[in-house]
Order: sequence, then C-alpha cells, then structure tokens
Amino acid sequence: MHYPEPISKLIDSFMKLPGIGPKTAARLAFHVLDMKEDTVLEFSKALVDAKRDLTFCSVCGHITDTDPCRICKDESRNRSMLCVVQEPKDVIAMEKMRDFNGLYHVLHGAISPMDGVGPEDINIPDLLKRLQDDTIQEVILATNPTIEGEATAMYISRLIKPSGIRTTRIAHGLPVGGDLEYADEVTLSKALEGRREL
Ligand SMILES: [Zn+2]
Repeated sequence: MHYPEPISKLIDSFMKLPGIGPKTAARLAFHVLDMKEDTVLEFSKALVDAKRDLTFCSVCGHITDTDPCRICKDESRNRSMLCVVQEPKDVIAMEKMRDFNGLYHVLHGAISPMDGVGPEDINIPDLLKRLQDDTIQEVILATNPTIEGEATAMYISRLIKPSGIRTTRIAHGLPVGGDLEYADEVTLSKALEGRREL
C-alpha cells in the first residue's frame, strides 16, 4: 500500500507496540490524523516524559519516578516478606489486589535456556544481596505459572533454602501458561492464600 511517507512512518511506529499488526497500526495512524493538534502534542509528550522520568528502583527493580520507589520507602509495609515477580506490571497487579503488604523484588525476566537467559541475566544477584540482612523472613515466589516462571522459582528456592528463609510459591487458581498480569483480583488473591513451601 502506498501511504505518504509521514503516515507510513507513523504506522511503522505503532507496529513496534506489542499486539499491533499492520491493520490496527493503520487504523491508529489515521485516528491520530483526525485528532486535534493539541491532543497529539500532549500524547507525544506523555510518551517522551514517561521514558525520561521513569527509572527502575535501585532496591527492588520496580518502575518508579523516585529512587528508592514509594513501596520500598513506605515504612508501614511488612519488611519481613518479599514477593518476587518477573515484571513491574506484576507488582502493579499485586498492588491492585491490596492483600499483600510486604516488599517486592522484580526480576525483569525469567530463566529461559532456550532464549539464552541465565540466572545472571535477570535480577537474581541483587535478590541474594537483599537476603543477606536478616530482615526478610519469607520469600514468596510469584513468577508466572509458565515453564520459565516455574524453573525460575525452583532455581531461586534452591539458592535460598540453605539460608533458612521460608520460601513459598503462589499456586492455586492461576491458570497454567497464563500471565500474572491477566489474572483477576480474586484469582490472584486465592493464589497468594494458597502459597506453599518450596
Ligand atoms: Zn523499590
């Protein structure tokens, strides 16, 4: 299809987003052309600002605009419990549930030998460092119920075991092969409730 160059560039940009194919990208691009210039400027500024102002928390790895993040800084949270998740969006899913008042550790991925991702490629070394002080008494492994997520949970639990820290894995209610972020709050709440020793 022959679009004028600015439109094809815009379509190409939308196609860089997950789940957006050429058709949807074209629809979005034409929608942008119909938008008021002010709205488009606001939209583009939001994209640039989000990228520029957000960073990863140096303690837990969650996405934040302050370092340490608000969760790590919050003195009212239970510092003896640490929930390990794969991605920042999983922290957001857990926070929405409101049942968990501990701290988080974001791995930014999962161990996946097929994709060449080893334990040192994700945020595991920092996790081990955090466990060295005696504050944390339980590590809840809330990685996704996928092959990679399970393998990562097993790997971490084996590393932690000798230290005597309680290691649990969320279990019930989560569909196998699913993503934590898509679970509804009740399912996620049940999964947390049904965590087991690893
Ligand atoms: Zn943090």
